[in-house]
Amino acid sequence: MAEYAELYEKLKKEKAELLEKLEQSRTLGQPSMERKEGSPFGKREEEADEASELEKRLALEERLRESLKEVEHALEKYEAGTYGLCDSCGQRIEEGRLEAIPQASLCLSCKAKQSKEMKGMR
Ligand SMILES: [Zn+2]
Repeated sequence: MAEYAELYEKLKKEKAELLEKLEQSRTLGQPSMERKEGSPFGKREEEADEASELEKRLALEERLRESLKEVEHALEKYEAGTYGLCDSCGQRIEEGRLEAIPQASLCLSCKAKQSKEMKGMR
C-alpha cells in the first residue's frame, strides 16, 4: 500500500481540515449575547437574517459531515488494506480518479451506475 502513502497523508490532512471547519462553524453559530437595539422593523429583519444564517450553517455542516464520513471511510480502507479498491465491484479504482478524489470509494463505472440508480429513485 506504499504507493498510496501520499494520498493517505492527503486524506489525513483533509480530515483535520474538515474537523476544524466543523468546529469553526459551531463556534460561529453560537447565538450572540449582545443584541442591537433598533426599530421594531430593524429587529424583525435581523431575526429573519439569523434564521437564514442558521439554515446556511446547518447545510454547510451537513456537507462537511458528509465529506468527513467519506474521508474517514477511505482512511479505514487504507488501514484495512483495501484502499484503492472499489467498494462495489472490488476492482481497482482508476489512479487518476484517486488522485483527483482521494476519498473515492467506487470506481468510475460503479459510481456512474449509482448516480443513475439515485436518479431513478427520485
Ligand atoms: Zn466498481
